[in-house]
Amino acid sequence: MPCGRYAPSPTGPLHVGNLRTALAAWLFARSDGARFLVRVEDLDASRVRPGIEEAQLADLAALGLDHDGPVVRQSERRALHDAAIERLDRDGLLYPCFCTRAEIREAASAPHGALPEGAYPGTCATLTAAQRAQRERGGRPPALRLRAEAAPISFTDRIHGGRHGVVDDLVVRRNDGAPAYNLAVVVDDADQGVDEVVRGNDLLETTPRQLLLADLLGLPRPAHAHVPLVLGPDGKRLAKRHGAVTLADRVAAGETPADMRSWCARTLGLAADPAERPDLDTLLARFDPARLRREPTTRDAG
Ligand code: GLU
Repeated sequence: MPCGRYAPSPTGPLHVGNLRTALAAWLFARSDGARFLVRVEDLDASRVRPGIEEAQLADLAALGLDHDGPVVRQSERRALHDAAIERLDRDGLLYPCFCTRAEIREAASAPHGALPEGAYPGTCATLTAAQRAQRERGGRPPALRLRAEAAPISFTDRIHGGRHGVVDDLVVRRNDGAPAYNLAVVVDDADQGVDEVVRGNDLLETTPRQLLLADLLGLPRPAHAHVPLVLGPDGKRLAKRHGAVTLADRVAAGETPADMRSWCARTLGLAADPAERPDLDTLLARFDPARLRREPTTRDAG
């Protein structure tokens, strides 16, 4: 059975852009008769904030976005993530990386000309045993990186069409020991049977990395749809500093969840009349991926 999901990180309240993505993910799944899962991505313990998961789930419920089965937490799935990392290691695909962020920024450009700016420059990929031992004595625990060999990856996004990317040596285990986002997401989607990933456009550039990991782990590739972002009036990705952007903020300002759903539907391209308050059945009947807006939406302050 087809299966979609929404996978929030409990690091801050969902804003209208996140909720709009959740609505789109729900519509993609339910219009296809698919299961729809919610997975809480709480691996970065330093950023998880108490009470946020509950608030996020309450917001999804207030918009009417139901899900199948219990909510799953990534932190409870460490054994699966660890097994995948071990498999990559056994296959000789990993190496320890001692670089700090600053060192990566300052390093000369990446050895593979095809890699985009910000790609890992490969500093630790070719350390000799002696150099590695010396770095180990420095005391900074290493992260583990994948030898991606600038693998070219192509895929078709259901909103953006054909995409192509070249994968740099991504981290699969962070230097605090936690499985990295890209690794965990691939392992969990496959294990949970997710075959369609609908998420914000800010994650479009991570998709080639995740597809390469799926290939190397022998896991099926899910389909993807990256939903355009909601931007603040300054053109930057919407955030708390832009004002009343959460459902709680909007309700405090006198709006209802149906008002927010209406705004989301209009800016996704699924409704035209600002006075309309379409319910989910109406939106399901109208839903057509080809109708979805491809451009970001700017949200006015207030
Ligand atoms: N947890 C990620 C986020 O909140 C989303 C991951 C995904 O959908 O793949 O940004």
